[in-house]
Amino acid sequence: MNRGRGVVIKSERELALMREAGKINAQALAAAVSIIQVGVSTADVDAAAAEVLRKHGAESAFLGYPGPYPYPAVTTVSVNEELVHGIPGKRQLKEGDIVSIDCGAIIEGFVADSAITVGVGEISPEAQRLIDVTEQALFECIDKMRVGNKTGDLSAAVQTYVETNGYNVVREYTSHGVGRSMHEDPQVPNYGQSGRGLPIRAGMTIALEPMVLTGGPETRVMPDQWTVASRDGKLTAHFEHTVAATQNGPWILTVLEENLDEERLIRYNQYFAGRVNPTVAKGVDTDESVIFGP
Ligand code: MG
Ligand code: MG
Repeated sequence: MNRGRGVVIKSERELALMREAGKINAQALAAAVSIIQVGVSTADVDAAAAEVLRKHGAESAFLGYPGPYPYPAVTTVSVNEELVHGIPGKRQLKEGDIVSIDCGAIIEGFVADSAITVGVGEISPEAQRLIDVTEQALFECIDKMRVGNKTGDLSAAVQTYVETNGYNVVREYTSHGVGRSMHEDPQVPNYGQSGRGLPIRAGMTIALEPMVLTGGPETRVMPDQWTVASRDGKLTAHFEHTVAATQNGPWILTVLEENLDEERLIRYNQYFAGRVNPTVAKGVDTDESVIFGP
């Protein structure tokens, strides 16, 4: 591990540990998503993810995280206008809600951080469009996570895609380096200019996380002092992957192939640098180094 300008470059061994943490985190999110239905509480969602971490001997990167008071759960579960940092509790999910789940797992001191937004039951076309745009903004950003680019390219990719689709990006919260700590340098805003910022180097690992608002970009912190919601009460969404830059392109550390339906598998493949070949895209060749690896 070497440090330069506050950015921590990871060794191959460290990337492998982050990948282990990333797989567990992906399973935790999948477990949380799998129980979502009308009437389930946000605490139940948290418990499903917590169980996966426990089973794999992973620590939580969130539990006890310093803030106004130590963060009290393993996930954040943010509903509708809640953008990030929603504290799981008794709230029961309703038909048409959209739920953002964020989780962080630690293996041998290395953190992986990822988030997903899903609907409860049948959701409105607007809510579905928001989810689709936010997820695609993440892909647009991942595609810029390449050696030779600058961190401003990541920011600009998110902002351009989101604003072109008529939504706003958050201003107060950012994508961030991740590794031995959940939040390392660099901070990478959801807005900015391409060509600016720090050069992206092989071994850099960033938790890329578009946070998107259908209304104005302003947020407010709720009385629980953690939950961040849109100030105007309009719908929001959040997707996140921990991604390493490698000499061969971006490597998503927090995805599990078995969690992906065929459409998503094809979509992921499209973001790996000219490696789209019909056989692989159909999931026939499941060699991770081809599909998701560097
Ligand atoms: Mg996160
Ligand atoms: Mg994060």
